[in-house]
Amino acid sequence: MTDGALFERVALIGIGLIGSSLARRIKRDNLARHIVANARTQATLDKVLELGIADSVSIDPAEAVAGADLVVICSPLGTYATIGAEISDHLSVGAIVSDVGSVKSMVLRDLAPVVPSHAHLVPAHPVAGTEHSGPEAGFADLFDGHWCIVTPDSGTDAVAVERLTELWRRAGMKVDIMDAAHHDLVLAVTSHLPHLIAYNIVGTADDLEAVTKSEVIKYAAGGFRDFTRIAASDPVMWRDVFLNNREAVLEMLGRFTEDLAALQRAIRWSDGDALHDLFARTRAIRRGVVEAGQA
Ligand code: NAP
Repeated sequence: MTDGALFERVALIGIGLIGSSLARRIKRDNLARHIVANARTQATLDKVLELGIADSVSIDPAEAVAGADLVVICSPLGTYATIGAEISDHLSVGAIVSDVGSVKSMVLRDLAPVVPSHAHLVPAHPVAGTEHSGPEAGFADLFDGHWCIVTPDSGTDAVAVERLTELWRRAGMKVDIMDAAHHDLVLAVTSHLPHLIAYNIVGTADDLEAVTKSEVIKYAAGGFRDFTRIAASDPVMWRDVFLNNREAVLEMLGRFTEDLAALQRAIRWSDGDALHDLFARTRAIRRGVVEAGQA
């Protein structure tokens, strides 16, 4: 395409934080000639039209994907199987079907059986986000400088993978190609477990009868305050992450529990060296994160 557009018609199935950020970026940088948005409710589609972030909208996913050369599913993971069944007969020849979901093995499980052989399934996970939801929450710069992990199956068409990779590069991301199961293990420790810990600690504080809610809010120092931000993340999205990455999260949770027991023991036996050694090691990790520009 001579004007720099990578795709003719992009269908976004789900247009909340991630879908609307992608729409804004595609529009801003002219990465596609037409964006059609689909969502669960008409209210969201009305909002999308009001915000002017898509060229057209359709409440019917089958209608939305018709004629699209790229379909990106940007809805909660638990919706994939139903959406896949609804769109499969309406995908164009050569269309790329992708997604932005936070778990990747389940995409092959739910979508590979229904994507026809004349289309290409190329799952992806832009590892960028906030605790906010909905089309108003998105912004064009969300992806800048972050990683996008693309997890094609071994037989996937290389040209389709390259086209999708180029979209995310032009959206500002660095791209890695990875096996889906490996992605799920890595993200279980870097993202899913931290969210689970945040949900748990904020819930524990909320349950404490001796510490009133107003004290929890009033004295929320740095540590707890940061946990409350993470624990404000979308309940539906995160429910689906844990239901669909069960094995990897349980594996990491097992290791975490063992390490926590070791810390408990160090405190009980006043083993200051053990505590200091761990805290010094983790401080160095934070420095590495900052130096890598991921802070
Ligand atoms: P969100 O802001 O809550 O938006 C979800 C969107 O999906 C809404 O437009 C919603 O429509 C739509 N939707 C729900 N059910 C649907 C269905 N059956 N058919 C079509 N659309 C449907 O969610 P998000 O944060 O953008 O997350 C979307 C995906 O991105 C998730 O799979 C998540 O794992 C992944 N992800 C999220 C983050 C993050 O930080 N949030 C980061 C990376 C990846 P209505 O508004 O009409 O309900």
